Amino acid sequence: MGLVVGCNHADQRRRTGNSGVATNSVAGNDSAVVKQTINTPARVYAKPEVPVLCYHHIADDRKSDYEVSPTTFTSHIKILADSGYHSISPTQLYDYLVHNKVLPEKPVMITFDDSRVEHSVIAAPAMEKYGFRGVFFIMTITYNKKNYMTTDQIAQLAKAGHTIGLHSWDHTMVTKYKETADWQKQVAEPKKKLEKIVGKGVEYWAYPNGVYDHKGAEELSKYFKLSFTLATKRDSIQPLQTIRRMIVPECTPQGLLKSMRQTFGKKKI
Ligand SMILES: [Zn+2]
Repeated sequence: MGLVVGCNHADQRRRTGNSGVATNSVAGNDSAVVKQTINTPARVYAKPEVPVLCYHHIADDRKSDYEVSPTTFTSHIKILADSGYHSISPTQLYDYLVHNKVLPEKPVMITFDDSRVEHSVIAAPAMEKYGFRGVFFIMTITYNKKNYMTTDQIAQLAKAGHTIGLHSWDHTMVTKYKETADWQKQVAEPKKKLEKIVGKGVEYWAYPNGVYDHKGAEELSKYFKLSFTLATKRDSIQPLQTIRRMIVPECTPQGLLKSMRQTFGKKKI
């Protein structure tokens, strides 16, 4: 879907020569020609990574490393705002990686997996207070179930300017999708339903358990502009389908900033 890097790898190389940069000419009605830069996978891979955070449960009864308390979550958002970070959307990240568009200073992306109800009740209002917007990856089997978001809450997040992405139907890992029917059940059908709920295209994916393989990443490039893993190695041929995120544990605000630097490097973006 709209993917310009990776599918026609050989073709892209032919058009770009050694520069690693291609330009597409788009003719407008008045024959004005707009040139748009399109980076090759190698160029995308070489660009400094934007820190992408991944939260799951936000609760006081911590049972695992996948949970942070509401107080901790709020303190994380506050230190990001106080330190001059700007939350960016996946579309901004895509435009930066593919078209070299400029990002706001100190960009960060804040993402949430598994459609928990506290994402809408706690996380979204805490972020909105600082003008931040997040990315919510929905596992669609959870619609309207106890402890999970209702379809209305999901629609509301989209309306408030947050991004809604897909996290499969029932959290089965991509490496287990063998037949066309699996891709239909886990990706194609839930994507369509989610698009109906939010009233716009769903263009981003988070891998269940962060697990991917090259074949899966390639297949996902037909459905999504970007796909997100966890802090594992990226696929150099499919860098857009293997964007790294770090799971944020219960930690101090200073600890969060330190982990971000360790995971994503200190290069200026
Ligand atoms: Zn998950």
